[in-house]
Amino acid sequence: MECIFCQIVAGKVPSEILYRDEEVIAFRDINPQAPTHVVIIPREHIPSLAHLSEVQSPLIGRMVNVANQLATREGITEGGYRLVINCGEGGGQLVPHLHMHLLGGRKLYDILG
Ligand code: AMP
Ligand code: ZN
Repeated sequence: MECIFCQIVAGKVPSEILYRDEEVIAFRDINPQAPTHVVIIPREHIPSLAHLSEVQSPLIGRMVNVANQLATREGITEGGYRLVINCGEGGGQLVPHLHMHLLGGRKLYDILG
């Protein structure tokens, strides 16, 4: 098992886990791009958004729900935040395990325009 996020799910690579349930976990990004930068992933290894089947697609709603909860917990709801899913190399995806970024705590206009 070489996927770094699968290893985080399995507890084999340390991370600051902020949320976990039977389908989704969330942890702080190791290289934060904003004061709050959390990575939300399904426990299941799905390589990217492009590999998500229709049956699996409710997972995205669960991930958004977790992101919203964490945004509130992090105190960034009022100031605003951004959810990002990079897909594939051209989309800026470096880790080939589906994940959503929760970014907030600073103005993000400069990142995606
Ligand atoms: P992406 O470019 O969308 O694939 O984003 C991958 C993200 O995972 C990057 O923001 C990395 O900083 C983050 N990352 C990689 N390895 C780890 C790790 N071991 N713990 C926490 N975040 C990580
Ligand atoms: Zn994986």
